[in-house]
Amino acid sequence: MPRSINLLFMEHFVCRGTCGGESDIKKVCESEDCNHAGMELESCDCADGTHKPPLD
Ligand SMILES: [Zn+2]
Ligand SMILES: [Zn+2]
Repeated sequence: MPRSINLLFMEHFVCRGTCGGESDIKKVCESEDCNHAGMELESCDCADGTHKPPLD
């Protein structure tokens, strides 16, 4: 079972840029080569790890 499973069942933060980074705290993307570098990660509460925004 992947260690990251725990954060998938509560709010977490993901980068929508090219790095695809994720965090359990709110912060900005720290990947210098990401096209969203320096931008805040987006809140996500998906339970399946896909980090897809709700589409309704
Ligand atoms: Zn990023
Ligand atoms: Zn997610």
